[in-house]
Amino acid sequence: HQQHKAEANILVLGAENVGKSESIYTHNISLDGRDTSFSIWDSVCPQKPSLQSCVSEEQLRWADGFILVYSLCDRDSFSVVRQQLQRIRQLKKRHSSTPIIIVGNKRDLQHRRQISSEEGRLLAITSDCDFFEISAAETYHGSLVVFHQLLERVRASRSLS
Ligand code: GDP
Ligand code: MG
Repeated sequence: HQQHKAEANILVLGAENVGKSESIYTHNISLDGRDTSFSIWDSVCPQKPSLQSCVSEEQLRWADGFILVYSLCDRDSFSVVRQQLQRIRQLKKRHSSTPIIIVGNKRDLQHRRQISSEEGRLLAITSDCDFFEISAAETYHGSLVVFHQLLERVRASRSLS
């Protein structure tokens, strides 16, 4: 049985327990009124990531776009995103338009918040990424918005090259 080529290969990265599964195991995503197929690679990074081992160069080459997830009540997971960003930008140097979206998840846990919206947004702005805060476990909508935005970015970066 022949596999259809996905429109985009998406690599989802983040520390353990930040809520990646809720963000990504959405199999049939309808975007622009039609079903769009994604290949999603859910990759767990240890809290103290050895940057070389967490993401392989093969994974980086495979990906058309990245979603970097942290939990906004877990500062360590935010550090993991910071480090992942550096590694991606370093290895994708020649494809500087490769879209990256930073996602602060668990927005419902306001009382346990450790990363302000401003801090998250600042990291995104200074590294040329999009930024969203969502509550993946509460509503499906937030994840959809993230995937929709990433697909638009992937399409735009293709039309540039
Ligand atoms: P992963 O290790 O990044 O794949 O994390 P999981 O998707 O397994 O989620 C880890 C835990 O966080 C689970 O208990 C989820 O139910 C919980 N979780 C995920 N998203 C949210 C969220 O938006 N809000 C809250 N309160 N909990 C969440
Ligand atoms: Mg998981």
